[in-house]
Parts: sequence; structure tokens; C-alpha cells
Amino acid sequence: MNKLHGGISASEGITIGQAYVVIRKSFPIPNYLLSENQISSEYQRYLTAVEVVSNELLTLHDSTSILAAQAELVRDESIMEHVKLAINQKRKNVELAVYESYQDYLTLFEQSDDPYLKERATDIIEVRDLLLLHLQGASEKLFHNLIKPSIIIAEDLSPSDILAIPSNMIKGLILGQGSSNSHIALIAKSLEIPAIVAAKELLPQIINGEELILDAYEAVIILKPTSDQIEEYQSKLKEFLTLKQEEAKLTLLPVVTLSQKPIKLSGNAMNLEEVARFQKIGCENIGLFRSEFLYLNRSNLPSEQEQYQAYKELLLLADGEVTIRTLDIGGDKTLPYYPLGAENNPFLGYRGIRIYLDREELWKPQLRALLKASIHGNLRILFPMITEVSELIQMQQLLTICKEELGQEGISFRTNIPIGIMIETPAAILDAAVLAKHCDFFSIGTNDLTQYLFAIDRTNPMVSNRYELLPNALLSALTMTLRAAKENHIPVSICGELAGNVAAIDTLLTLGFDEFSVAITRYNPIKRCIRNYP
Ligand code: PEP
Ligand code: MG
Repeated sequence: MNKLHGGISASEGITIGQAYVVIRKSFPIPNYLLSENQISSEYQRYLTAVEVVSNELLTLHDSTSILAAQAELVRDESIMEHVKLAINQKRKNVELAVYESYQDYLTLFEQSDDPYLKERATDIIEVRDLLLLHLQGASEKLFHNLIKPSIIIAEDLSPSDILAIPSNMIKGLILGQGSSNSHIALIAKSLEIPAIVAAKELLPQIINGEELILDAYEAVIILKPTSDQIEEYQSKLKEFLTLKQEEAKLTLLPVVTLSQKPIKLSGNAMNLEEVARFQKIGCENIGLFRSEFLYLNRSNLPSEQEQYQAYKELLLLADGEVTIRTLDIGGDKTLPYYPLGAENNPFLGYRGIRIYLDREELWKPQLRALLKASIHGNLRILFPMITEVSELIQMQQLLTICKEELGQEGISFRTNIPIGIMIETPAAILDAAVLAKHCDFFSIGTNDLTQYLFAIDRTNPMVSNRYELLPNALLSALTMTLRAAKENHIPVSICGELAGNVAAIDTLLTLGFDEFSVAITRYNPIKRCIRNYP
């Protein structure tokens, strides 16, 4: 039987294409001092890695000038000398020697005024990682062989991996890890790529290059489909496209219930293109702009000027309100060029606001850029991962510092920007009445809230089937937040994936919620439900 059932649908859709299997291994860098008699064999390991990796880059059948240039970087004389010195004289193990040597060049390239060298920083990272992967016995080829649009199969991918591939090369996504709330699933939804996650058991059966059908509505994979099966799924696909076209007719209609109660339905976006797509379907407000995506798929932190430009364009493009969330990295969103150190429990560790408050290089450019851009539109600023009021007060103090600086520099900004917080930890729920007195709006992040409330790792497929749609404790948490917001006369919206779930929306409306922010693919289905709600 060529039909496999399993995994969880993370982004709906049907696609037919060739499998592209990625084998990814993470590589913590070993660090030890070599003994005198290890030195020569360690150096030999390095020379072999250089040989193998550069040959691989040159012989890949899609070899391009980029790969040839990368091969040159593998064999670069001065870098090789640097590594040699680190092994032979400083007695560093080869992985550490390679990592540090390329890191030194990376810094040099990044700081250079020459745009060509700056651009080559990503090549340095790729080459470094290929060498490290080889040294650690991994067989990964990253995406070098991806020469035609394919269905990507991988044990796990990070948001930065997926954003590094042009989205038109990804017909679908099947991952061993993850859950429907993991960030990789949110990206798939935002790019409208059909995706199944938590499909660990199915992966070994998928062979690289083989044709398959991915039905991410039903979480079904069909290997080597017959012509009848292809025909069957093509007609299914047609049906879904017709349904989509039907939903598109909703564009000009207002978001109101049958009793004409207006509901504020906004969009969750991560880049300008997505905001433009929301505009096209009649969605004026962006209820959650995940700013961390501006930080991915690059090799250094975006400067204040770059961020200002991005926020300005965003505000000019959107007709309505734009709620920009400050950087929320950590957990399953890491920046490859900005290591934060290994953690046993990253979701309970150094994440979101906790990192931000510690690091001026993060908060200052972003807060200044947001303030400067505020004159171009209707901006709201949202702080993630708040657990207690002191964090909110500290954030507001940082904003005040930035406002004072801009004032002294004679740069204008709006003084009445609404400041909101994500309600996504149990502590924030329990303290919602106090928090509500210190901010202008709440946005409930049910993805993290569910994970922290029920102690269910949002990326772990072993526990993802323990989610009930609307368990009692979640309903109580939502009700408590709504009450605290109402009593303090501040608006509250739900921006987690729950708001985009057609099976949950009626209950949320009945509880009294009247603001939601959803992924682009969920906008029309949810609008249809709201318009059918009594
Ligand atoms: C959430 O946690 O529900 C949320 C909207 O934020 P993110 O998914 O980006 O963590
Ligand atoms: Mg969150």
C-alpha cells in the first residue's frame, strides 16, 4: 500500500511533486586541547575535509558560480593557514579551529565597507557549516541539490533554514518534528505551503527524488502515486480551489455576525509581501507582525536604519492599524549568527523579552526605529513573553530613554503609540488585572499559553496529540484575561493559532471575544464563520 497516514496537518493544501530529502544534524562544537601525538592526525582530518567538501561543491550537478566561489573559500590559503596554526600551535581540536577561523573572517567581512565582501559573509557561514558537518560525519548537503520545486522532507528545519530557500522551490513540507503551533508550521501557513509535521515514522519510507502526493488536509502521503490517484487528487485540489474562490467573494463584505455585531478580524504577518496579500483580501489591520522574521535569513542584526525603512514601508502599505511585536527570539526561533548558548530548556530559558532587556544592541535600534517610523501610519507596539509587571515597566523605561534621545536629536515620532503585551504565560493571566493598568491592550498568544499552561512543548510531536481543542483550563484562562481587560477598559484580541480554528471560533465569540488576528490562510474561513454566527 502506497498510502501513508500520520503526522499532523500544519498548513492545509494538496500538492504533487518530487521528494527532496534533507538530512540535518545539529553540531555543537566540541572544544578540547589536543595532546602532542594527536596533532598530526587532527590536521590530516582537516585536510581531508577540505578535499571532500571542495570536491563536492565543484561536482554537484547544479554547480553554479556561487558553489565554485564557495569551493574557493574552502581552499582559501589564508584561512587554511589560520586553521593550521590553531591546530598545530594552539592545540585546538579541528572543529573548534575551523569554527573560530571562519568566525574571524566572518567578522572581518561583515565589518567591511565593501558590499561584495559583506555579501560573501553568508558564503563563509555555509562553508564553515559544510566543513563542520563533514568533520562530524553528517551527510547533509543542505539545499545545494534543490534544483526544481520539490516537496521538502526533513527531520526538522529551523525558521531560518526554510526562509533561506526561495519559497517557489518548496511545493510542500513534511517534517519529522514539530507541531501545528511550532514556528516552522506558522511559516508554512504564512507562505501557503501545504505541510505535515510530527511525521517521524513516515520519513524513512520516503525516498529522495521519488514522486509523491501530499494531502495536508487529511495528513496523508501517497508514495509513487498511480495515474488514477494523481487524477483523484487533482480533482480534490480543484474542489478546494473552487472553495477558496468562493471565500474570496467575501472580500468586500464586512466582518459582522448575523446580528450585525462588528468583529475586528486582523492578520498575522511576518513580511511586507504578506501584508500586501492581506490587503488584497480586504484585511486592513495587522494584529501581529512578528518582527523577528526581519532578523532571519541574513548574517547580522539589522541596523536601526534598515529596521526604520522596513517599518516605514509596512506602515505606509497598511491601510489600518499595524501591531508590531518587538523581537521574540529564543525557543524554536534562533538567529544562526547570534548564538545565545545551549540551554536544556530553551522555552523556559533565555527567550523574548528576557534577552531583549539585557541587550542594548537589540532593544535600542528596534525601539528607536519603531518610534521614528510611527509618524508614517497607525502603529501599535506589542511586547512578548511578559510574565510580570516589572518587565513591562522596564520596557516602558527603555522606550522613554529612546524617546528622550530622539527628542534631543530633533527627530519626530508619535507620542501616543498604544503599547500592548502578549498574554502567553500563566503568570500573566494571574496578574492580568494589574498588567491591564499598565498597558493599552492585550493580545493573547494561545500557542505559548497552551504550552506553558499544560506543560506541553509546542514543538514536540510526542506530546502534541495531548492537545484538546478547548480544554477547561484554557477556557478559564481566556475568560480571566477577558474580564481583566474589560474591567480596565482595554481591548483584548486572540492572535494565537486558536483564533484561526473554525472549530473554536464560535466558542470564542460566545465567551465575548470580539477581536482576533489570524494567519492569511485562515482569514476567509474565519470570516465566513463569523458571518454565520448568530
Ligand atoms: C503565541 O504564542 O500564540 C503567539 C502568537 O506568538 P508566537 O506563535 O510567535 O510565539
Ligand atoms: Mg508566543
